[in-house]
Amino acid sequence: MLRGSAARHAFSIALLSAAISTAAVPVPQTYFGHPIGADRQLLDWDKVVSYFQALARSSDKIRVAEYGRSAEGRPMIVATIASPETLRNLDRYREIQRRLADPRITSRTQAEPLFKEGKNIVLLTCSIHATEVASTHSAVEFAYRLITENNPRFQEILNNTILLLVPSLNPDGLDIVTRWYRSTLGTKFEGTSPPELYQKYVGHDNNRDWYIFSQPETRATVSQLHNVWHPEIVYDVHQQGAYASRMFIPPWLDPAEPNIDPILMQEMNAVGTSMAADLTAAGKTGIAIHAAYDFWSPSRHYQAFHAGLRILTESASASLATPLVVTPDQIDQDALGYKPREKSWNYLQPWLSGVWRLRDIIDYQEAAFDSLLHYAAVNREDMLRKFYQIGADQVGRASPAAIVIPKDQRDPGAARRMLQTLAFGDVEISRDDTGDTVIPMRQPYSGYAKSLLERQQYPNLLLYPGGPPQRPYDVTAHTLPLLFGVDVKFVDQTLLQKTSAADLRDPPPRASYSASDTDAWQAANRWWSSGINVWRSDAGDFANRAQPGWHEVRRPRIGLYKSWNADIDEGWTRWLLEQFGFAYTSLRNADIQAGNLSAHFDAIVFPDETPNAIENGRAPGSMPPEYTGGLGSKGAEALREFARTGGVLIFLNRASDYAIGALGLRAKNAVAGVPPQEFYCPGSLLNVTLDLRDPLTRGLPQDIAVWSEASPAWNADADGGIAKYPDSGVLASGWLLGEKRIAGKTALIHEKYGAGNVVLFGMRPQYRAQSYLTFKLFFNALLL
Ligand SMILES: [Zn+2]
Repeated sequence: MLRGSAARHAFSIALLSAAISTAAVPVPQTYFGHPIGADRQLLDWDKVVSYFQALARSSDKIRVAEYGRSAEGRPMIVATIASPETLRNLDRYREIQRRLADPRITSRTQAEPLFKEGKNIVLLTCSIHATEVASTHSAVEFAYRLITENNPRFQEILNNTILLLVPSLNPDGLDIVTRWYRSTLGTKFEGTSPPELYQKYVGHDNNRDWYIFSQPETRATVSQLHNVWHPEIVYDVHQQGAYASRMFIPPWLDPAEPNIDPILMQEMNAVGTSMAADLTAAGKTGIAIHAAYDFWSPSRHYQAFHAGLRILTESASASLATPLVVTPDQIDQDALGYKPREKSWNYLQPWLSGVWRLRDIIDYQEAAFDSLLHYAAVNREDMLRKFYQIGADQVGRASPAAIVIPKDQRDPGAARRMLQTLAFGDVEISRDDTGDTVIPMRQPYSGYAKSLLERQQYPNLLLYPGGPPQRPYDVTAHTLPLLFGVDVKFVDQTLLQKTSAADLRDPPPRASYSASDTDAWQAANRWWSSGINVWRSDAGDFANRAQPGWHEVRRPRIGLYKSWNADIDEGWTRWLLEQFGFAYTSLRNADIQAGNLSAHFDAIVFPDETPNAIENGRAPGSMPPEYTGGLGSKGAEALREFARTGGVLIFLNRASDYAIGALGLRAKNAVAGVPPQEFYCPGSLLNVTLDLRDPLTRGLPQDIAVWSEASPAWNADADGGIAKYPDSGVLASGWLLGEKRIAGKTALIHEKYGAGNVVLFGMRPQYRAQSYLTFKLFFNALLL
């Protein structure tokens, strides 16, 4: 009796604890107070974080860690999901990945047992673009299902893979969009995008940051997840427009960047096609493959240069969480690579109309998560072998043998920053006996270094023979030596010099700097902020004490125009000014229209925006009235007065065309209205020759490359032209169609206006935080 009771008691405790641990896993609907994906419901980041923490407390299949902070200080979290057995031995699996990632330290014989023992590492990242709201919801619900549904398929996934699930790569943006959405619910603006950037500095360009690593979210993800775990697969979840396919899945379109390993490309084709088959089998229609998205710029895919597959899906969007009714006539006639109204081999079941809601997007995404993870689980050992082989191919590269960065550089600050950036991307950097810096190609990520250090030759892709160019998905050049103004040499001979690890630390501050040294600008701002006076020579050198013949320069009072268009280039400009220590004030339309600008500012900067966006802003009725309108005639008059009375007006790229109209300048844009068949430059580096007599060019060499992207080019005899395209050989890196349209034309104008100055940039001198060479043109303009 006693014995029986004790036995029953023990049994019931075992049952009870099993029951508790299952019952304690919080159900999303209960936790969030509504079903996931319900119409007109979005999530808050703090609640998402606490939900994942609650999952980790209630299940031994998931661990949750904060791995960094966002630009506005929100926690970034990763959930590690695998079988309890795997989670208990995470250090061992991380060590296996480290060994397989570097064939120099692991022979094939040593690798063999690791292929059997290791797990397939899948990093799944959600909602980097915050208006693409669905995937954070999918992450919440899928994590819950994966750890609670005891089916054989999920068991196989948990046993064979380690899922690193990042529910949002952009938690600031998540809250910005949720807040805006709630504030517009029930109004005619419900479902619109917020009138501010959804990442503090770079908005949508946050997925163009993956080799320059400017933002804290990118830096944390690369340094704490990619470079620690070396995932075999990184699946980045996005949304696209509402009126074509329901979901895009790789294969990608041409071109593929030539340094990406062909094994990796083939595996992406295989995984993507397998996912498309699974979604089709699950009854999901409107699946497009081999469409719309190419595989060129490393700014969007770090992992593909680090032996990891990049899987992208792009789901059709609803109006944030508001259902969208799509009628047949709204479906696009044409898309890149397929016709959304017609069947084709890569679009077998067109989706032609219906109600499309957040819940639909989540259903497709969870089916895609499931499919990808199951593929990773079933093909675990095979994928680990190929991962190792990709590394072996990189290490075995025959040519070049090395890339050398000679020690004597015109701009030592920019050279150091370029190398720091490469080192952050896991490139090993050495220094030889002569003091030159050497990047040997016998290393696992040699293709990554080579891609970023060589000139790009983007293929001449037309939509059809004689037709317009096929638009690249992003830009076409990423040549860091041209952007940074650094000399490099590709060498093929075996290196005989002894090498040691290069020291890339920042040097201690000095009392004076050459005009050509990027470091000078941070030093000057540091001195100004500490109340130290700053002197400059005619050549543009800086010092913190008086020198014969030099003149004192005051810290510029900078105004930065900020429209209601959530302009990404405005964010990049703000970021750049802050990085270099400049003080600035953001100016809204009303601030400029109020006039008397000379009393407060020495220079006013207009980031890249169209003339119409600056002059008229958002149309009345398209947004709540406080976010509509532009500078109008009152703003233009205030700018004219500012320049007449001695101010400096600086216009970047397309904003220059606004200036020509508003200020009545004589310059004419030679490429305005020219069709793309005749002139096309979708983000490339172009050669120009500078007029070194102009103070804007202080510290620069005569021949440089500038970033051109929808950029104006002015008539050769324009007043104040100081950067000229050559008569031939205009392209330095990337893609350019119709060079004769701009050959001999002007890319930079500096002219007097009353007592002041106007500077027009026919380029993006502060391009995505990486054009260090032309930063100096921009900074010099601030000090005119
Ligand atoms: Zn996106």
